[in-house]
Amino acid sequence: MKKILIGTHNKGKFKEISYLISKKIKKISPQKLKIKSPKETGKTFSANAKLKANYFSRFTNLPVISDDSGLCINALKGKPGIYSARWAKKYGSFPNAMRFILKKMKNIRNRSATFVCSLSLKYPKRKIVTVTGHIKGSISHKIIGSRGFGYDPIFIPLSKSITFGQMLKAQKIRIDHRYIAFRKMKKKIKIF
Ligand code: IMP
Repeated sequence: MKKILIGTHNKGKFKEISYLISKKIKKISPQKLKIKSPKETGKTFSANAKLKANYFSRFTNLPVISDDSGLCINALKGKPGIYSARWAKKYGSFPNAMRFILKKMKNIRNRSATFVCSLSLKYPKRKIVTVTGHIKGSISHKIIGSRGFGYDPIFIPLSKSITFGQMLKAQKIRIDHRYIAFRKMKKKIKIF
């Protein structure tokens, strides 16, 4: 059976990326190989996705797929952006980070936001391939829904009336930033 290392310690991302890749391919986590996460020193999503895929591939001969993603809110000048995971740490949890965002945006009418995902795929001895997917939407006024992960309960994708946190996984994964990036990747390179 073919194998791939999904270079993330984030369970939500691991599940979503696994879902996008054929069932015939065995998905390996960094935990299984006892590999820690690298420091995200990049200034962009794509720089961090590349950095992660290159880092994880140093420990294995398997192909590696990594993503760097986050929520960019226009009224907050694109924040939390590449700091999305770090905001949850800073404020103690994702619910706290979401509460902080909702408080900051209390009287703000422009609630537009974009989820961004850069995906990097690195086959041993081959050049890394990186693509980026976006999905536009808006920030809800409350935390709604208990599905998904991260900032899902405050993001309403354009032309939908519910948050990602209210959607079934199968519904979210067919429209989100990760899916869009994955589709671009499949156009660029024959995956497996
Ligand atoms: P990083 O790519 O490891 O820096 O983490 C990205 C962070 O962005 C995650 O921990 C989530 O907080 C957030 N994020 C990325 N994609 C999603 C998503 O699909 N739903 C909700 N939050 C997400």
